[in-house]
Amino acid sequence: MDMMYNSTRGGTAPVTASKAVLKGIPDNGGLFVPERIPRLEKSFSELAQMSYQEMAYEVMRLYLTDFTEEELKDCITKAYDGKFDTPVIAPVHEADGAYFLELFHGPTIAFKDMALSILPYLMTTAARKNRTENEIVILTATSGDTGKAALAGFAGVPGTRIVVFYPKYGVSPIQEKQMVTQEGENTCVVGITGNFDDAQTAVKKMFGDRAFSRELDRKGFQLSSANSINIGRLVPQIVYYVYAYACLLKQGRIREGEEINITVPTGNFGNILAAYYAKNMGLPVHRLICASNENKVLYDFFRTGVYDRNRDFILTSSPSMDILISSNLERLIYRIAGEDPEKCSRLMGMLSEEGCYEISSEMRQGLADFSGYYLSEAETARTIADCFRKSRYVLDPHTAVAAGVLKKYLSGTSDPRVNVIASTASPFKFTRSVMSALGFETEGKDDFALADELSAVSQVPIPRAVELIRSAPVLHDTVVDPPQMPDAVRRFLGIN
Ligand SMILES: *Cc1c(COP(=O)(O)O)cnc(C)c1O
Repeated sequence: MDMMYNSTRGGTAPVTASKAVLKGIPDNGGLFVPERIPRLEKSFSELAQMSYQEMAYEVMRLYLTDFTEEELKDCITKAYDGKFDTPVIAPVHEADGAYFLELFHGPTIAFKDMALSILPYLMTTAARKNRTENEIVILTATSGDTGKAALAGFAGVPGTRIVVFYPKYGVSPIQEKQMVTQEGENTCVVGITGNFDDAQTAVKKMFGDRAFSRELDRKGFQLSSANSINIGRLVPQIVYYVYAYACLLKQGRIREGEEINITVPTGNFGNILAAYYAKNMGLPVHRLICASNENKVLYDFFRTGVYDRNRDFILTSSPSMDILISSNLERLIYRIAGEDPEKCSRLMGMLSEEGCYEISSEMRQGLADFSGYYLSEAETARTIADCFRKSRYVLDPHTAVAAGVLKKYLSGTSDPRVNVIASTASPFKFTRSVMSALGFETEGKDDFALADELSAVSQVPIPRAVELIRSAPVLHDTVVDPPQMPDAVRRFLGIN
């Protein structure tokens, strides 16, 4: 029996994994969720013997049941190869009393690579399985890291095109340079004058626009999403939490079955949701600690049960977490609502109409696995400096938010468990904030000069991803207002 996927808002027939990957989001605007969360089938001592690729197969096969073994293994082999700068793909590094699960060894030096290096293969395989003739057009809104990782994943993949929208004034210079230098006939990068939420809202609207999709269909195109709401992103992210546990076990840091805590720097709630799925699959996790920056909607939500996006949007040094609408939270809401699509729809309807909803006390009990904290900008900078002083280990601002949040959690408990921190970006992606946090002068220096200095200070070589874009020419320079985004898509596809 195949694992089927339902919409969090009900009203549509269950679909197979390959259809869910291909469509991205259900027609009624909800998100696809597996009909149940499968249990891990191997013991942890068996899992501890596996390579990353073997582990990926072992976890993903439980969700993507209509992919054949050969298809899935082929996707995994193509995704997790030499584009990662370490054969272990996701190493665990001990520093300052915690274990940093480094998810930034892929081609764009941020954790989005973990899923976006496999998504294009899952998607083209899914298209083949479902006899899709249309060309797949990936539409993506990015707060900085998704965009480049998706571009890198889809560039040159036959049968696909990709359009990325990013907030022109809301990403780091290195992030922007990474995107606008993207090569590949099938890629298009567009800056927008709004913020990430504006971009994401407009992209969601295009997905929900039936007339637009009919227009595209007539021209031989169909939209799909590479955003973290695609289950083809979620499922590959579960793998590394199991992998981290297995590594700790193999290294003798924990005993089989011993519980750990996992702290995740959170924006759209995709990464931490994957950890929650891992826990529900049987991974021994005590606490899932949700780390926010000053855009602390989630912190307030875990504290009060009220989700309220009506507040100022703050630009911080951790831009990939500058998010007020955490899309993947809908999957958690659905689950704690007892998988009741009506309840979920009602709350999500309130979110889109009033920007705010409150969950019942019964639902709040379902949040017992989570703790939420946030870090101010000053605390984030201090965490970077402290960690470097104590361990000579340089954190990027996103990971620093998590490291600082973990300290806050620990100061309020006597929890003796081993702590894993999802380390989501290389410090070389955010050299200005990092160098400034370490106390260096950054005025008047460009980000590449700062990368050289950071390399000298930290004794870590500059990642290939940064070297590659240093002198690359800008190939994309379009900037539009959010209402013009559909026209930008039409222009790129040559259909206006
Ligand atoms: C995307 C991103 C995050 C947030 O992850 P979500 O899955 O959106 O919660 C954190 N850090 C970095 C560096 C990211 O790129």
